[in-house]
Amino acid sequence: MGFRLPTLLPSAIINGIMNDKALSEHVKDLLRAPGLSAFEASVREVVAAAWRPYAPQQTVSRLGSLHALQSGTGRSNRPKILLAAHMDMVGLMVTQVEGGFCRITEIGGLDARILPGQAVVIHGREDVPAAVVLPPAALLPPDRKNEIPRLRDLWLDTGLPETEAARLIRTGDTASFSQAPLDLAGGRIAGRSLDDRAGVAALTVCLEELAARPHRWDVIAAATVQEEETLGGAATSSFALHPDLAIAVDVTFGAAPGLPEHKTFPLGGGPTIGLGPNVHPGVHRWMIRAAAKAGIKYALEVMPAHSGTDAFAMQVTAEGIPTGVIGIPLRSMHTAVEIVALSDIKAAGHLLAEGIGALDDGFLSKLRWE
Ligand SMILES: [Zn+2]
Repeated sequence: MGFRLPTLLPSAIINGIMNDKALSEHVKDLLRAPGLSAFEASVREVVAAAWRPYAPQQTVSRLGSLHALQSGTGRSNRPKILLAAHMDMVGLMVTQVEGGFCRITEIGGLDARILPGQAVVIHGREDVPAAVVLPPAALLPPDRKNEIPRLRDLWLDTGLPETEAARLIRTGDTASFSQAPLDLAGGRIAGRSLDDRAGVAALTVCLEELAARPHRWDVIAAATVQEEETLGGAATSSFALHPDLAIAVDVTFGAAPGLPEHKTFPLGGGPTIGLGPNVHPGVHRWMIRAAAKAGIKYALEVMPAHSGTDAFAMQVTAEGIPTGVIGIPLRSMHTAVEIVALSDIKAAGHLLAEGIGALDDGFLSKLRWE
């Protein structure tokens, strides 16, 4: 499947704390694994191996989400918190094979403007490299030369003869960006699927920190499936696990020139803490307190409508689960070169660990919406 096992080995961990190099390698291991929505098996293996040292009790939900339990030190019948980050990613699906070319549709929201010229891998009977192509402008009639490409105008060119393409590729096969992870200067990393493998890595940081500090509550980290399309992973995991609190860790829009300032957050400025109908006010206050106490930089993220994350699915499970949202700023969302700051991943994980460390046996009895 073209992915390799994680390099998160004890040698990469100094004094029980993952150093920056180890975190960067961990993130890149996650990015290399394929795993479009509903096809997450290969990335799940990578996440399971990374979490095993800190949360060895692991299960897989019927839809394919990974659950990893880190037991608390509180009395028996401990309350539990579910931390969810989605491991699925956006990409393409083959709708038709014609000669050595494939028609495509999207899995998750993809902007057709960023697709032409991309290198991809089709996950067929074996992995098939291909390029996303559109007709050269010189061969188009004058009135079509400047038009914005639409998904239905694009093809995957495999370079294969018809019989070989027909043998290897079927309608319904997925294709992912073949962009390798890229180290940028200043502790930034670029690549596919940082939405939301950055969140998965933040959960690794949190589990690692909590493994070395006592906490009363049970912690269940979940790498959820299908967030980009259905939120079905988070809905079914929260139903199965019935946590007392739930936090979704997902990416949010990173600030860049020309983007509205009130809807974007600077890379390196720390995680965001969500506020809005998908967020329980008591959970919000608890996270703010944890950040203030530990001196963690954060930004408030106003989410006046649907948060567009797993938080919604978890919040409305069963009779309702008190839920919060932590965001990691990310630029170029849903492209092959999404960009995050490693320091924000680290700070998000640290914030979670600080908050969970502060949860006591009486927290739930004081939790009120109003
Ligand atoms: Zn997304």
